[in-house]
Amino acid sequence: MQLVTILGASGSIGSSTLDVLARHPDRYRVYALTAFSQWRKLADACLTHQPRYAVVVEPAEAEALQAWLKAKGSETEVLSGTQALSEVAAAPAVDTVMAAIVGAAGLVPTLAAVEAGKKVLLANKEALVMAGGLFTRAVEQHRATLLPIDSEHNAIFQCLPAHPQDCLSEGLATCGVRKILLTASGGPFREYSRQQLEAVTPEQACAHPNWSMGQKISVDSATLMNKGLELIEACWLFRARPEQIEVVVHPQSVIHSMVEYVDGSVLAQLGNPDMRTPIAHALAWPERIASGVSGLDMITTARLDFEAPDLDRFSALRLAVEAARQGGTAPAVLNAANEVAVAAFLQRQIGFTDIPKVIESVLERVPVTEPEDLLVVQTADQEARRLAQSLIKAR
Ligand code: NAD
Ligand code: MG
Repeated sequence: MQLVTILGASGSIGSSTLDVLARHPDRYRVYALTAFSQWRKLADACLTHQPRYAVVVEPAEAEALQAWLKAKGSETEVLSGTQALSEVAAAPAVDTVMAAIVGAAGLVPTLAAVEAGKKVLLANKEALVMAGGLFTRAVEQHRATLLPIDSEHNAIFQCLPAHPQDCLSEGLATCGVRKILLTASGGPFREYSRQQLEAVTPEQACAHPNWSMGQKISVDSATLMNKGLELIEACWLFRARPEQIEVVVHPQSVIHSMVEYVDGSVLAQLGNPDMRTPIAHALAWPERIASGVSGLDMITTARLDFEAPDLDRFSALRLAVEAARQGGTAPAVLNAANEVAVAAFLQRQIGFTDIPKVIESVLERVPVTEPEDLLVVQTADQEARRLAQSLIKAR
């Protein structure tokens, strides 16, 4: 029996994870579920899964959940505050941690799980983008197991040799890999002109054609920043250089990514676009379990299209590739500026095409340093946030 903590249980990935866990009560039990606020989103899951702990970061919301659960006869103990996130991630009883908090807020609790040597299922790509070097060193040092949940990275992992850790430590080439083909749906505005992009609303940006996701990643998918963050994520996960990764737009989102070998073989992982597949894969790895996702009907799928990304219309991807090449704290700065710009877009303070402009201005102004420790990363993150906010105010 595996005990599982879900960081970010009230979100899109969190609820898909709970769905998979509920199909296998013989294999998994929930140890803790966490959310930032909005306790009601966690309430039903607490009754269904009866975790030992629930964490709601905001104290008043945590109190409300505790009172509600008590009245229902539940024995779940509700904790509050950010420290509690790390505690339930690192607790000795826990085997597996699903890291599904969105954004930089996930870094510290996810690192706590790594430092406690857990099996960490990583959805929170921002953690790796911000602090990939520190993060991957901690995985090795504490003998944690890191498995990718992002559908593309999970696909790449599945297309690599059975125990990729054995060859990846010496670089991709020692696994016989020539390059990684990272697929992108192109988002809801793939065919929009520059002029059309300027008028895009948050509602349109959050309506992704193939995937149902949280608001932040939906906007990232629409700007293609998501693919940029994923390219950086792939560099750390698979010890690749940015030049070894080619972004390919594939609007159907049926192929979730591909790996090209030196002999010319290209391996792809296909499936219906449903995050329960990578979640079930990582939960049970190296075994396989049912996820609730139906099989792929190739006849209905009928065709698979591919095209190159347009880095002029979608300059966020270009900025991310540049930050990946630059290294150091540049990806942390890119990520922080993006989080602030996306939040401002969702609050209608800036337009859709202002998002990359804000990020570019921040990247030009914040000096890049070596991310020796967490403090350096967090300082770069804070500086980028302050600057992005002041640029947005001045617009
Ligand atoms: P979401 O917005 O639906 O959920 C986010 C979760 O994080 C919620 O439980 C929320 O309470 C929690 N949270 C937010 N801010 C927090 C804070 N400051 N402190 C503690 N908890 C906080 O997001 P999502 O779509 O589930 O995405 C989660 C992560 O997974 C993101 O990093 C995203 O990029 C990644 N991801 C998501 C998908 C998807 O299909 N949704 C696919 C691939 C990767
Ligand atoms: Mg993805």
